[in-house]
Amino acid sequence: MILQTDIKFVPGVGPKRAEILNKELDIFTLGDLLRYYPYRYIDRSRMYYVHEIDGSMPYIQLKGKITAFETFGEGRKKRLVAHFTDGTGFIDLVWFQGIRFVESKYKTNQEYIVFGKPTLFNNRWNVAHPEIDPYMSEADRPDGLMAMYNTTEKMKNHYLNSKAIQKIIENAFGMIKERLPESLSPDVVRTANLIPFHDAIENIHFPGNPILLRDAEFRLKFEELFYIQLNIVRYAADRKGKLNGFLFKKVGKYLNSFYEKHLPFELTNAQKRVIKEIRKDTALGKQMNRLLQGDVGSGKTLVAIMCMLIALDNGFQSCLMAPTEILASQHFETFKSMLSDMDVEVALLTGSTKKKNREEIHAGLLSGDIHILIGTHALIEDVVQFKNLGFVVIDEQHRFGVAQRAKLWAKNEHPPHVLVMTATPIPRTLAMTVYGDLDVSVIDELPPGRKPVQTLHRFDKKRGALYQFVREQIHLGRQIYIVYPLIEENEKMDLKNLEDGFIHIKETFPEFTVCKMHGRMKPAEKEEVMQQFVANKAQIMVSTTVIEVGVNVPNASVMVIESAQRFGLSQLHQLRGRVGRGADQSYCVLITPYELSADTRKRMEIMTESNDGFIIAEADLKLRGPGDLEGTQQSGISFNLKIADLVRDNPILFRAREIAEELIKKDPKLQHPDHLVLKQQLSRLSGNRYDWGRIG
Ligand code: ADP
Ligand code: MG
Repeated sequence: MILQTDIKFVPGVGPKRAEILNKELDIFTLGDLLRYYPYRYIDRSRMYYVHEIDGSMPYIQLKGKITAFETFGEGRKKRLVAHFTDGTGFIDLVWFQGIRFVESKYKTNQEYIVFGKPTLFNNRWNVAHPEIDPYMSEADRPDGLMAMYNTTEKMKNHYLNSKAIQKIIENAFGMIKERLPESLSPDVVRTANLIPFHDAIENIHFPGNPILLRDAEFRLKFEELFYIQLNIVRYAADRKGKLNGFLFKKVGKYLNSFYEKHLPFELTNAQKRVIKEIRKDTALGKQMNRLLQGDVGSGKTLVAIMCMLIALDNGFQSCLMAPTEILASQHFETFKSMLSDMDVEVALLTGSTKKKNREEIHAGLLSGDIHILIGTHALIEDVVQFKNLGFVVIDEQHRFGVAQRAKLWAKNEHPPHVLVMTATPIPRTLAMTVYGDLDVSVIDELPPGRKPVQTLHRFDKKRGALYQFVREQIHLGRQIYIVYPLIEENEKMDLKNLEDGFIHIKETFPEFTVCKMHGRMKPAEKEEVMQQFVANKAQIMVSTTVIEVGVNVPNASVMVIESAQRFGLSQLHQLRGRVGRGADQSYCVLITPYELSADTRKRMEIMTESNDGFIIAEADLKLRGPGDLEGTQQSGISFNLKIADLVRDNPILFRAREIAEELIKKDPKLQHPDHLVLKQQLSRLSGNRYDWGRIG
């Protein structure tokens, strides 16, 4: 088939350029080339004047002459500047690479047409790496929209610039004798009101007019999002269709006596609703796979406890998996105190559980004497076997790989019900895409009496006032976290900063006890420091982000985050969640240098303005783009979206989801001959990557 033609046979490519296209752009076939979409278009029907240029201009074209060339800098910093004028003003054309080539190719005092995006630098307008055409009279000049393609430095070194790519695509079209085969089934094309694939591809590269371009974009964006959704919806339907979950038919003495005698407070309405949702799932005989989202402090743990008691009422064991030892032991303490004087056996299993103790736990799980197991990764190990595991809770899921989770599935003859709890809200678009086959419950209500954390942004030169404030808070009986960033690539330096900070804080607050914690400490040491802090034997804890997840010290009311510019929004929000857990007004102070990038300033602004995890997650998605978000790599299909944008193309995403659902309802296995093309495209898109969709 024409689309499978090796790229090297396209006129103008050849083996050398083919190799570059393979390496740089993952383009191997003619089909890959056609799906290399432009990133913007220049309106060639409009010629701009230099004196009109302002900051809001997209890519434009100018007509004029180069009056002189100049080079600046040396070695890698060298740049070439061409002074260009059209008679209405001057603009600089700038090159950082390929300088010799440019100098030899373009002459002064000759008319050219220059394309590019003007930016202001040192108060002068300039265009970096412009594309240049010899001047043509208006009659000879192509008009309409001209596609621009992204190219890499390496490609430019081999003269594969945007224009060259366009030429190659034109040549590829020359090889195509028949219309390109449709890449969606006829029913989908009809329902979604799409233009044919052939026309879409043609118009995305060579737009006939703006309306055709818009239709082409819509068609290709839809297609991209549709296949992601179809993949997810198909697996979800497949899984839900099977009656292989454990039945939790009754509510018995465990839950009832907990509810009547041990529940220390009223459930919030949101907690009640979520428990109902889970009850409904587990009473149906289908296996539950549910994502529970709720901001930090919203009371997810309690929901987990109550569900585990229902499991116990039906003769099943449960386990809870936490991402760190500290968190696991905190959960363990919570469970023990909540379930005290009930006849429920809870055990803790982590990497540092002693061998003898560990063996006892293994035996207790097998005999059924232990009802609830709490632990870290240690509980995935194959030696950990249950008598009858029925309910699994995974806390703060983003720390666990999907593959690790999958191992839990195998611990009973049927997979247990799974509840994944997360305090990092996942924007709806992403939830639909990445966790699209999980059912979602949301706790959107905090227990009564909580005061929202007040967040302040301060520059690092002004610590004096902050320290005064910290001192006052401690005198009121409160405790303080001071957090330093630590990333692996920069670990040495970061640890030194933490160490320096620790010494500095000790000197600044000689009257208080200051403790220190970081991930490189032994678990026992960490545990000791944590206990010291929990017992208020230390008033200030200097630490890295090890305290990010789940740690609960209600008396801590101030969190100071050093070098806050180095943290992402979601991480800042997680950290902030460590305070505001008690009844007192809490504070989060973000410390940064004075000089900040626009993005960072925006992040700080969002943090000081909002406490709402969902707003923060949406903003994070917008600022960082979905590619970087944790979890995206878990979907079956690559998330390097070529044309759609998860944020901007929301409505298309929802429509694609809808149509995928209708289609799977009618033809769950895609058996209709019309749907063969869908199956083929799905396998093309998922390549031979491991199929995560299966174990969502
Ligand atoms: P999450 O895990 O969602 O961050 P937790 O389950 O740790 O939140 O709950 C935070 C705190 O709120 C705990 O101290 C818990 O005992 C308390 N809590 C939970 N539910 C309620 C409720 N309905 N009313 C009052 N306090 C609650
Ligand atoms: Mg929690």
